Amino acid sequence: MEAVLRGRLKREQRTGDAVVVGDRVLVDRQEDGKHTIEGVEPRRTELARRAPGSGGRRAKVVVANVDQLVAVFALARPAPRLRLLDRFLVVAESSGMEAVIVANKTDLADPARAAAGIDPEEARATQAGLEGYAALGYQVLRTSVTEGEGLEELRARVCGRVTVFAGPSGAGKSSLLNALQPGLALRTAEVSEAVGKGRHTTVSSRLIPLDCGGYVADTPGLRELGLWGVEPGDLDQCFPEFRPYLGQCRFSRSCTHTHEPDCAIAGAVEAGRVSGARLESYRKLLAGDDAR
Ligand code: GDP
Ligand code: ZN
Repeated sequence: MEAVLRGRLKREQRTGDAVVVGDRVLVDRQEDGKHTIEGVEPRRTELARRAPGSGGRRAKVVVANVDQLVAVFALARPAPRLRLLDRFLVVAESSGMEAVIVANKTDLADPARAAAGIDPEEARATQAGLEGYAALGYQVLRTSVTEGEGLEELRARVCGRVTVFAGPSGAGKSSLLNALQPGLALRTAEVSEAVGKGRHTTVSSRLIPLDCGGYVADTPGLRELGLWGVEPGDLDQCFPEFRPYLGQCRFSRSCTHTHEPDCAIAGAVEAGRVSGARLESYRKLLAGDDAR
């Protein structure tokens, strides 16, 4: 239903993000038949982007209550950049969302099917790299749109929930969305196209309903999403495998895990308990020098 903001919420909305897409709100019906938003329920999760005009210092919430982020990467064409995956995972952790990793185009790892110019051996190594994230507690789904692999698992994972899809261009997001529900990718593309026409600061997020229940969150400018609300001192908590070591560095919680002596995370990397590439991702993100 159409509803307008009133009073305190209306004043807050002018300066901030008092009510955003995905919020659960309390609506009242006025005597003239119009509806007003009277209250907003506490958010389970918040996805934020850089607030316009703040020089990147302030975060603005663009969608609330998204349950999970599905990070889609292909085994090849394009080969995944794990740095980007790490960035998506931090976005999910810092926003309070669950993260699921999709290793798509598994058909390319099959020597009998692999396309010309693709080394199935390399594709298998890439697949193993993505599956390594399962040890950190993330669900990793293997999918192939062409072979129909893993699509039921993906469906089971997104139906009834609010999901945001992320991944580099060409990884197979549109193909997967269309496999889940024909026409779904088209609906997200409509907004993307509008974004391309220069309305990118005003086009807002939307939730596209799934026939099986739940929604896909379409958030323009996903590249802008994420780390704007994360305090540097909290970034290490967004790496789940670091958590057992936090507070154990010589400088305790003030250690930035970049150069300090007796850093417990660096020690864990040396002992082979934490991946050096993940620590490198953390350091890059901390320095604001992340892979886009
Ligand atoms: P998006 O940019 O992430 O939305 O990627 P698209 O869905 O447009 O897919 C990019 C290309 O990869 C298209 O040519 C698809 O047909 C192809 N593609 C998508 N999924 C698969 C897959 O599982 N296997 C193979 N071999 N190709 C795929
Ligand atoms: Zn440390």
